[in-house]
Amino acid sequence: MEKKEFQAESKRLLEMMINSIYSQKEVFLRELISNASDAIDKIYYKALTDEQLTFEKDSYYIKVVPDKESRTLKIIDTGIGMTKEELENNLGVIAKSGSLAFKTENEIKDGHDIIGQFGVGFYAAFMVADVVTVISKAHGSDEAYKWESEGADGYSIETVRKDSIGTEIILKIKENTEDDNYDEYLEQYSIQTIIKKYSDFIRYPIKMEMSSSRPKEGSENEFEEFVEEQTINSMVPIWRKNKNELTNEDYDAFYMEKRYGFDKPLKHIHVSVDGTIRYNAILYIPEKIPFDYYSKEFEKGLELYSNGVLIMNKCADLLPDYFGFVKGMVDSEDLSLNISREILQHDRQLKLIAKNISKKIKSELQSLLKNDRAKYDEFYKSFGRQLKFGIYNDFGSNKEMLQDLIMFYSSKEKKMVTLDEYISRMTEEQKYIYYASGDSIERIDKLPQTEMVADKGYEILYFTEDIDEFAIKMLMTYKEKEFKSVSSGDLGIEADENEKEDQNEEHQDLFAAMKDTLAGKVKDVRASKRLKSHPVCLSADGEVTIEMEKVLNMMPDNQNVKADKVLEINMNHDVFKSLKEAFEQDKVKLSLYTNLLYNQALLIEGLPIHDPVEFTNDICKVMV
Ligand code: ADP
Repeated sequence: MEKKEFQAESKRLLEMMINSIYSQKEVFLRELISNASDAIDKIYYKALTDEQLTFEKDSYYIKVVPDKESRTLKIIDTGIGMTKEELENNLGVIAKSGSLAFKTENEIKDGHDIIGQFGVGFYAAFMVADVVTVISKAHGSDEAYKWESEGADGYSIETVRKDSIGTEIILKIKENTEDDNYDEYLEQYSIQTIIKKYSDFIRYPIKMEMSSSRPKEGSENEFEEFVEEQTINSMVPIWRKNKNELTNEDYDAFYMEKRYGFDKPLKHIHVSVDGTIRYNAILYIPEKIPFDYYSKEFEKGLELYSNGVLIMNKCADLLPDYFGFVKGMVDSEDLSLNISREILQHDRQLKLIAKNISKKIKSELQSLLKNDRAKYDEFYKSFGRQLKFGIYNDFGSNKEMLQDLIMFYSSKEKKMVTLDEYISRMTEEQKYIYYASGDSIERIDKLPQTEMVADKGYEILYFTEDIDEFAIKMLMTYKEKEFKSVSSGDLGIEADENEKEDQNEEHQDLFAAMKDTLAGKVKDVRASKRLKSHPVCLSADGEVTIEMEKVLNMMPDNQNVKADKVLEINMNHDVFKSLKEAFEQDKVKLSLYTNLLYNQALLIEGLPIHDPVEFTNDICKVMV
């Protein structure tokens, strides 16, 4: 017998699992049954391609055996089994090694988190058992091995005799404590309930010996006990069932059982298509964004089945990136089982299914938007960013698909609104869809640039995410209306336009002097058409706005893109009078004022000041 230690990370996880105060400890059974089912899938799949193996349905099953006397619960499967190396590597190592480093003990709240985030379903056994024994014989191997562990200290491994291929897991169930009744994992009826709850759609029979009583022969009021092996699960996969027969709980249970996520799904979509191409699909929109969604480790994709047999865990081709958060499965009779990944990519049927699925997801999201706004808001909080990226990526080729689904915060409604809702409120004289960019709603609320547009009574959309402006530039128009930044050179508001032009001419020399002071910093100094109460603001001429400059310069391959900044002066503000006076009497003062105003405008924009010390000195100069 060999004794070994767990790798350090596994050890820590195991300790957390053992001490977990997670109340739903019963999920350990779902995890072990799911592993058993996966193992049978593997041999099933082998049997389809390997002529030596014949797949006889009856000989593949999972068996659960509770025994009160020895306080053990066995989970036996006739799956593919594990070799010695597999026992050691699969059961002693974290699948997603490295991820633990980012987590502190407090962040990992309970066993549920551990299972979900580290892919160690098997460890859940330690929530209910003092000793876990795994006896396994792998397909194609003559030897069988026993792996045994009493917890974080380590495990032992030795050769044993086992006749049939498959795995047997023996849990030595813990003694009851004040808080936990472990006895229920030895009771036929409670085990039956747990299996029904989590594992009803497992495609192989889950068998258990159940005792019941029946009237004794020849007697009417005497009963006798008898034991009979029963199949506990209904086995018909949920996607083959009629939608009318299924409840929300059924869909939620399937989501959990499949480990699509560890939240509750926000919405499920059940599709059964019986046309030129036939398929069933169950799709879920998760409630929460997966913890690794924006990491390299995240893989989008749906499970792909060919006539009930799993052929791929994550078929990425079934989902576009912008719907990458969708979870679920597709089963089609029209796909060949032995299809290779490369061929699959070009498969016409698969492409058709993928296209239909995207359309379906869109229409379901639209109906959510229409019929359950609160839920849509919740969805949008998690995945709205993804949709906006979808508009921007691939040169805007998906904008048609996504433009009706995006929302922005509205200055008027004080909540998220769709572009369609914005358009519906536009007055006849309003030419553009106005937006303002900034770090937060509070900040944009105070932006001087919004004054004139707001004063006109026009609604302004607030862009608070870095992707927003880029997505809109890609969109260009929505229902033939162009987008316009409140900071852009020409606001498209006609009033007073001529008057401002005159003023520009009238004060040409003053503006030229100010521009000299700010040489290299701004492209122009002008009379503002958008300011009412604030003295100055910055705007941008051309395509690159100031917000875009900020975003672009934060990127790793920053090309030092600069917006053509314009310093705008409010002619109706008292500050302008001071400027005029300084221009006529004191050129040093003019340049002091100009620098001050420019720095103020930078601050308002959330841009860094080049020389903060000089700025504060300038303020002091004005004060004394
Ligand atoms: P996951 O199932 O998420 O990969 P687990 O910790 O539950 O993580 O299991 C780790 C691995 O151990 C599985 O991927 C599988 O290769 C192997 N395994 C677990 N249980 C069985 C079993 N009953 N039969 C064969 N292999 C198994």
